[in-house]
Amino acid sequence: MNNPELWLAAAAAAPLLSYFLGRLNRWAGLGSGLALFGVSSAMLRDQAGAPFAVLALWTAAALAHSVFLNGRSGLMPGRSGLDASLKKAAVLEKELAAVKEAARLAASGEKRSLAVYSAVKLLSETVDPSAAGRQLGKYLSDYFLTEETALYLAGNTPGELELFAQGTLGSQLPALPELIAAAGGVPRAPVSVSGFVVAPVHASLQAAETVAPALGLIICRERSAADAEAAARFAGEISFALKRVQLFKQVEWLSLTDGLTGLWRRSTLDEKIKEEIRRSSAFKTSMGFMIADIDHFKNLNDTYGHQFGDAVLKRVAQLLKDGVYETDFVGRYGGEEFGIVLPRADAAGVLRKAETIRARIEAEVFSQGLEKVRLTVSIGIAHFPRDGRTPAEVIGRADAALYAAKENGRNRVVDAGGVS
Ligand code: GH3
Ligand code: MG
Ligand code: MG
Repeated sequence: MNNPELWLAAAAAAPLLSYFLGRLNRWAGLGSGLALFGVSSAMLRDQAGAPFAVLALWTAAALAHSVFLNGRSGLMPGRSGLDASLKKAAVLEKELAAVKEAARLAASGEKRSLAVYSAVKLLSETVDPSAAGRQLGKYLSDYFLTEETALYLAGNTPGELELFAQGTLGSQLPALPELIAAAGGVPRAPVSVSGFVVAPVHASLQAAETVAPALGLIICRERSAADAEAAARFAGEISFALKRVQLFKQVEWLSLTDGLTGLWRRSTLDEKIKEEIRRSSAFKTSMGFMIADIDHFKNLNDTYGHQFGDAVLKRVAQLLKDGVYETDFVGRYGGEEFGIVLPRADAAGVLRKAETIRARIEAEVFSQGLEKVRLTVSIGIAHFPRDGRTPAEVIGRADAALYAAKENGRNRVVDAGGVS
């Protein structure tokens, strides 16, 4: 134990011990350094002299320096320093999350503004409402941040709302009548209905206070309480441009339909016949075509006047529409002549349908004031491909059948299949 070299080395090592232990805790480091130096000094007390004094001085200075170094470096902070750093980190993390959220909101806000801008621009400039509807679906999704969204537009008959645009999941939305029923009718302001927002688009600001029917209806999946307000904002922004599209569609519709009866015009019906014949050829199906002509209509006009004649034409048009499927096309072919295209219909079925229509019109009482008038129709039928391969051939054969019906006493149905 009494080895002076060993104790000299221990005394010299005291500052090193102080420094390295001090990295964990500066005061523990100083204490252990002092203790080691004290013990080694005691053991070396017989060695007093100038070298030892120098060593003692050097050790004291080194110990102080180690305390100073450990106090400043912060490499190994004490428990309280660690806690403070952790707290600071938590605060910074919170600030970072807030900045991230603000950036996300700003980005979605920007996306929404862009969607509204694009929607208004599209609706204000389009000359093709159907194409605009397809494009608008994307802007709806961008705005509502969901693909479960759709926009319905007021149709050409009062109260009718037809699908105009939808997101890619729009077809999975509940049926419109269901949503409207659940909302207790077309709402005047946005409402939440079974997980969806249903928001009306009003034609103008004043219309919101009146009971004018909605110009359109926006549906979107409700994901937050702010969605209804967002829908109202979107509806307000696009209303003016959407009104333009609706007017555009109305003009388009008017050019295709007959003003008196609301049926397709002759030119439109001719297009339908062409289209259906093309489809029937491609899919190897058949198509029926009927021409119905009111018997002695001139007499009715002459006796009761044109105004009554017009009212009769409207009613007959309605009866014809009621007599066929919704997928059939009924058009006004001439003054008191009507054409009906029946896609994929078989000859026996068309004959039965025509007979039912004839009987229904014969049974109808058309009244004007005290006057009660009855009338009849004659109907000619032809089929593709049985009676002809081109629209002109099929129409010509139906016309010939109608002529035969007139020749044979009117108020009857003749199928071209039985006419030579
Ligand atoms: P038929 O039994 O041979 O068909 O005799 P018809 O009198 O019905 O046939 P015709 O072709 O001689 O007369 C058709 C009449 O339909 C003549 C015309 O005054 C009337 N008409 C055509 N378009 C309209 C219309 O828009 N409104 C009214 N009120 N009458 C119309
Ligand atoms: Mg006639
Ligand atoms: Mg006629």
